Amino acid sequence: MQRIGVIGGMSWESTAEYLRLLNQGVRERLGGLHSARLVVATVDFAAVEPLQVAGRWGEAGDLLAAEARGLQAAGADLLLLATNTMHRVFERVAGAVSVPVLHLADVTAAAVREQGLSRVGLLATRYTVEQDFYRGRLAEGGVATLVPHGADREEVQRIIFEELCVGRVEEASRRRLARIAGDLVAAGAEGVVLGCTELELSLGAGDLAVPVFPTTTLHCRAALDVALGPVPVPVPVH
Ligand code: GLU
Repeated sequence: MQRIGVIGGMSWESTAEYLRLLNQGVRERLGGLHSARLVVATVDFAAVEPLQVAGRWGEAGDLLAAEARGLQAAGADLLLLATNTMHRVFERVAGAVSVPVLHLADVTAAAVREQGLSRVGLLATRYTVEQDFYRGRLAEGGVATLVPHGADREEVQRIIFEELCVGRVEEASRRRLARIAGDLVAAGAEGVVLGCTELELSLGAGDLAVPVFPTTTLHCRAALDVALGPVPVPVPVH
């Protein structure tokens, strides 16, 4: 089993989910007492978020590149940058190490294509929906995106940063996210990408009538495919 490195802390609420899903995935695939071989770096999100607001992406990239180098030095065979938004600086992070870094948009595009879909709604931070680094990469992967506008875009941003990133999962907000996603479906989206690693703490497959693509889950699954090989190993019966 390869050792997976996780660059997290953005926020740690979703990083905790990465750790749970990676370990659960290993247990499902290998059984018994097997658990994931991980090295994890969680940054202080309060040091990163102001850089996002100020558009100081270069500094944020340098900070995450240093974490990536640390994880490689600690023995990581592959890396996950456990936030969609910070894929804004993916090149800087991936360029700092010689081990592979699994791009969240590539993993997501592959999952969408697997379902035979090509146009999805994207719920994500303002940075992810307004800039090209993520939607452009999805488009390169054959997936077009519809995004919320105006007050809905602001509301998704508010729910992510003021609630989910600080551990608040509100029922009213889940309903609002479902309504916003439903509007994208009404506008032609064939599925909905939860393009922020905290969103699946709130919204799930049961909330929408179309396929839902939870990026944290998809990222973990793809990492396990690499770390363990794609074919599930049968669980030995004792
Ligand atoms: N975890 C979130 C994401 O996947 C948002 C936090 C951040 O801005 O990094 O985009």
